[in-house]
Amino acid sequence: MKTSEKSEVFFFPYDRGRAFLRGLRTLFSKVADVVSAGDSVAVKVHMGEYGGSAYLRPPIVRRVCDLIKEAGGKPFVTDTTTLYPMGRFTASQYLSTAAYNGFTKESVGAPVVIADGEQGCDGEWVDIPRRVSDCSLDKIKIAKKIFNADSLIVLSHVKGHALSGFGGSIKNVAMGCVIKKSKAAQHRVNRALIDISKCTGCGQCIEACPFKTLSLLEEKMVRDDEKCMDCSHCLYLCPEGVFSLPPQAQERFQVSLPHAAAGVLSRFYSKVAFINFVQDVTRLCDCATPSGSPVVPDIGILASTDVVAIDKASLDLIAQSKPLGKFANISSPDILGKINGTDSLIQIRTAQELGLGSMVYELKE
Ligand code: SF4
Ligand code: SF4
Repeated sequence: MKTSEKSEVFFFPYDRGRAFLRGLRTLFSKVADVVSAGDSVAVKVHMGEYGGSAYLRPPIVRRVCDLIKEAGGKPFVTDTTTLYPMGRFTASQYLSTAAYNGFTKESVGAPVVIADGEQGCDGEWVDIPRRVSDCSLDKIKIAKKIFNADSLIVLSHVKGHALSGFGGSIKNVAMGCVIKKSKAAQHRVNRALIDISKCTGCGQCIEACPFKTLSLLEEKMVRDDEKCMDCSHCLYLCPEGVFSLPPQAQERFQVSLPHAAAGVLSRFYSKVAFINFVQDVTRLCDCATPSGSPVVPDIGILASTDVVAIDKASLDLIAQSKPLGKFANISSPDILGKINGTDSLIQIRTAQELGLGSMVYELKE
């Protein structure tokens, strides 16, 4: 892991009229050292929710897989199951959604593998090397197929997020490379508060809870706090506003993310690289359908071996852009954080404090 020295971030801008396939080749050459001949290479990518539209396009992923093969590696395209019940709750559901969204072995030129198994439970524990800001996470279970890979290439669609303000490589690694229970552990800091006086006993949340955690007692909802997995499904679904986020939920969530990322990255050390795509920058993440209209124009692609530097550089490039449409009055910096009501640099500062990289970087076009 890196210290607070200046890190290199390589940048391919979209506004110079050059083809992105060539751009990706050049960018990949700058980080290709993380792949050795014969390596099994996990290509981590969010393949889009069912009904989503802003996720990374399959030809981008295909290009990266081809470049990994040229470097002698054996890529597989991978992600993990979700906590919430939509199109990716089990591995088989995820594979159907991935195919629907255009991700198949034929389209990306590599096997598509859901790394945490059918129910989202298969993984290996790793300790989180150190903790700051009163974070209670001390270990994380990495999804098995990712854990077993020799190297990791993280492809991240940079966009906003309702809880973390912004989502880039740190979030992609933290939440996307672990099993369901370790996702829940990161979300525990935003366990929903309940105002039971508002509950009409309609039963919608009880039917919808994917972990059968809710029941009705005397026409009021009751939650089993031991069994709740903090998927937030009930929070967004209840028509009466019974559930609400606790104070500081967004900020505490952002402290959890880099701790989980630190656990995952401790498995790979120098065998990991990050490529951020600053395009289709919507207010919400790729799990949301719809995720919203673009906040800024498409900016370009970044590559680095420093997870902190690449996310900071992505946010800085967004800050230098002119917000579009209804976001035109949002001022820089941290446009995405402001739109989502938080300071989205918390995750980046915490990651630096944990020794995951440096917020001081040199952008090389
Ligand atoms: S959905 Fe809301 S109102 Fe309906 S039972 Fe659940 S908590 Fe009560
Ligand atoms: S109670 Fe709500 S947050 Fe907990 S598992 Fe059920 S739906 Fe998810």
